[in-house]
Formats: sequence, structure tokens, C-alpha cells
Amino acid sequence: LTTRLPKVGTTIFTVMSALAQDHDAVNLGQGFPDFDCDPRLLDAVNAALRAGHNQYPPMAGVPALREAIAAKIEALYGRRYDPGREITVTAGATQAILTAILAVVHPGDEVIVLEPCYDSYEPNIELAGGKAVFVPLGRSAEAGDFRPDFARIAQAITPRTRALILNTPHNPSATVWTADDMRALADLLRPTNIVVISDEVYEHMIFDGQQHESVARHADLAERSFIVSSFGKTYHVTGWKVGYVAAPAALMAEFRKVHQFNVFTVNTPMQHALAAYMADPAPYLELPAFYQRKRDLFRAGLSGTRFRLLPSQGSYFQCVDYSAISPLGEVDFCRWLTTDVGVAAIPLSVFYSDGTDRRLARFCFAKRDETLGLALERLSRL
Ligand code: PMP
Ligand code: GLN
Repeated sequence: LTTRLPKVGTTIFTVMSALAQDHDAVNLGQGFPDFDCDPRLLDAVNAALRAGHNQYPPMAGVPALREAIAAKIEALYGRRYDPGREITVTAGATQAILTAILAVVHPGDEVIVLEPCYDSYEPNIELAGGKAVFVPLGRSAEAGDFRPDFARIAQAITPRTRALILNTPHNPSATVWTADDMRALADLLRPTNIVVISDEVYEHMIFDGQQHESVARHADLAERSFIVSSFGKTYHVTGWKVGYVAAPAALMAEFRKVHQFNVFTVNTPMQHALAAYMADPAPYLELPAFYQRKRDLFRAGLSGTRFRLLPSQGSYFQCVDYSAISPLGEVDFCRWLTTDVGVAAIPLSVFYSDGTDRRLARFCFAKRDETLGLALERLSRL
């Protein structure tokens, strides 16, 4: 048997979570909250189960949920998606991204991926028979930032470029794109047929009064984009694996062709519960302040250490440069941090196609204050 994915092993998130468990380490590695969701959401699930919502829903998702998603996008970003033809409920963002890629990428097509990037993008492109063309984020090695460099993105475009994957707020760097960035991307793509897959799973985690630049705010991008989001992130239920995609009808028609033979539908009672819960916008409107407080708590706790803190403008991640603490490479450092210091982190190198080591590690601060306190107590010994 020849493997379809020769470069793929077990994901770093699984490896580090297992290591953290074996060594009783505080797990700030894999991105997930260690606290429970709103009890009202659990009540809504219970109600949905008892109301008999236990059979297949419509292929594209429960209509009330698609309507709630359309209403949210319109209220926040000012663009109306038709719930009938332009919104599909998915098994998390992971399935949404794979399905979007399978729907538009033909064998031999190129897909521009800005790196560092979430680890599922490249294998997804390979499964479609496409080729990931990596463009580094960061205007220069010296700048040490993760801002988009549009000249480099422009150079990567060829007649074979089918799609570009955008992710803001960004995992792992925690940077966010500005309105100017979005306009620059729109200008760059205007003469092309490139489709944008916009991974917006951290849309509600954005700090310091900034606004999330959904592609939905930018008409000329929205016309060529799949927008992907995840209820797992927004409502602290990563294990539910429910997300959605919004896209213009022509793109969505292609998406649904794949979706119906990929998962066909997504679990019914959770969709009804989410539809009922979404009627109140407060939970997602409160999320920036909720996570900004945790970010600030975590950053304040690290401020007296030799970790150099990178900016965290959005998402629930904080990246650090540990070069003043250890000469180890990133993977070894993160393993040592887990086994000997008792705090798990994720090496940034795993988000790069070439595994380049920059002495950077990512912590997830979606944790109870006590958990962050315990981690900080351990980290401040370094
Ligand atoms: N994209 C990014 C950038 C992510 O961080 C994640 C979650 N780790 C996903 C997609 C997948 O989201 P889901 O859990 O809803 O599949
Ligand atoms: N998205 C999460 C992260 O970046 C993990 C998801 C996963 O385990 N695949 O940490």
C-alpha cells in the first residue's frame, strides 16, 4: 500500500496532549478550554433531544440554525447570505475546510497558503491532488512579525493558482488582519479567479477594541470566498464538532456536492440547541472581553520571566520567544517544558512547511484562572 499522505504522522496536538497527561503537566498546548460551556446551552441540547430531534436533518443543516447564522453574519458584518442556498452546517471547521478544498481544487492546481499555518491545510490540499504553495507571513526576517507581505503573495500567483487560504485571527501567531490588509488582498485578487477559503474560527476572539475583518465586510472578497467558522471555539464546545460555511450560491452549490457524500449531514440535536442559543447575541459579543482578561492575566504573569512575549491581538494563543531561557530546538524545548517543568506548549515549527526553528512556542490561555495560575507558578521558575 502506498500512502496518500507520506509526510503525515500523528498531529502535534495529540502528541503533546498525551505527553501532558502522562507527566501530569498543565496542558497549555492543544487549543481547547478546560472549563464548561454555558449551562443554558446544555439545557437547549436536552430540550432538543427530548423534542425528538434525533433523525437526519436537511443536508445543508437545520433551517433555524442556518437562519440564525445568516442573521449573525448580517448583524456583525453587513452582508446577507441566503440561508437556503448560501449557508451549510458542517462537522466543525475541519470538515468545512477539507470540503471547500475538495470542491474547488482540481489535480495539479496550486493553493497559496500563508505560513505558519494550521496543520490541516496542506494535507487537505494534497488529498485533492493540489499543491500547496507556501508564502511566509512576516514582512522581513528582521521585522519578526507575522504581517502579510503582499509583494511576496503576488509573486506566488500563477495561472494554476486556484485558491488562497486566509486565517484571521491567526493560529498560531495571534495576529489579526486590518481593513487595509483586506483591501490589499482584494486588489491583488481582482484580476484573478482565485477562490478564498477564509478560516475565521477565532472571529469572536479579538482584543484591544479591534474589529474582526471578516471577508463578509469586503464585497469583492466575499464574492469569491468561503467563510468558515466553528461553534466549538465560540461556545467552548470543541468536542461537539459543529461549524459552518457561508459562500455565494455558485460556490456553495459545489461545496454541497462534496458535503453530501462526505458527511451528508451534521448531528441534529446540537443544531437545534445552537439555533435556540444563538437567539441571544450576548455570549459571542462578550467573548472578546472574556478572553482579553485571560490574555492579560497570562501576559502579566509572564512579564517578569525571560520569555519574550509576542503580541496577541486575537485567538486564544500567546506566542513566546524562549531563546533567553534555553538553547534547545522548539520540539525539544516543548517536550522538556512538559516533562520537566510541567507545562505543555506547542512548537511553532510544526506550523511551517520546512519546520524552521525560531525558538518560539505557543501557549493556549483558554483555561480557568486557577489553571493559568498553576502554569504561571511553574513557568516563573525559569
Ligand atoms: N482552523 C483553525 C485555525 C483552528 O485553530 C482550528 C481548531 N484547532 C480549526 C480550524 C478546526 O476547528 P474545528 O474544531 O471546528 O474543526
Ligand atoms: N485547533 C487546535 C489548536 O491549534 C487543536 C485542534 C486539534 O487538535 N486538531 O491547538
